[in-house]
Amino acid sequence: MEIFDISVNINENMPVYKNREEKKPKIILDKEYKKDNINESSIHMNLHTGTHLDAPFHTFEKGKTIEELDISQLITPCTVLDLTDISEKITSADLEKFDINKGDFILLKTQNSYDTEFNFEFVFLEKSGAEYLANKKIKGVGIDSLGIERSQENHPTHSILMGEDIYILEGLNLKYVDAGKYKLIALPIKIDGVDGAPVRAVLVNEDSSQ
Ligand SMILES: [Zn+2]
Repeated sequence: MEIFDISVNINENMPVYKNREEKKPKIILDKEYKKDNINESSIHMNLHTGTHLDAPFHTFEKGKTIEELDISQLITPCTVLDLTDISEKITSADLEKFDINKGDFILLKTQNSYDTEFNFEFVFLEKSGAEYLANKKIKGVGIDSLGIERSQENHPTHSILMGEDIYILEGLNLKYVDAGKYKLIALPIKIDGVDGAPVRAVLVNEDSSQ
């Protein structure tokens, strides 16, 4: 069995959406060993930082919040698709080449996994690609950018996917994994009433002899 950590590190200098200062995490050492005989920290952070799960409440006024989501959907077989040849956006035509079926959990590996800082031109899932996946009735989709879409008015990709109860994982790092089938474990921390939550996401290759 081989385990791949597909989460990004959280720190004060990590890439954040559009490099906005207010989105950078602040980690505060509240108690310090030298003084207090113990180390204890707190963090102030946007919930869409790094590797995270979006909840429908993110784009729907009365959508489900993180603690209401079904975690059994997030311990699941999944397929990594290699889309690293795409330079702008993933459309339905790009996805038609693959064998995608009802109930699949799809991870989109793109050039984004090779970025070391926030890329304003990151590859995203275009509306037609979201419609294609929604029609297939997949269970979830993940991508290696901090947002699954950009520069689309009214966030249609989010709305189309969430309208079909398709789970959305963002901020993955798929640099070290090849296309193929894995088991995904991506559990959000259990915060009541919120629109997103950090996730430690891993892929397990159960066929591996290691
Ligand atoms: Zn998000």
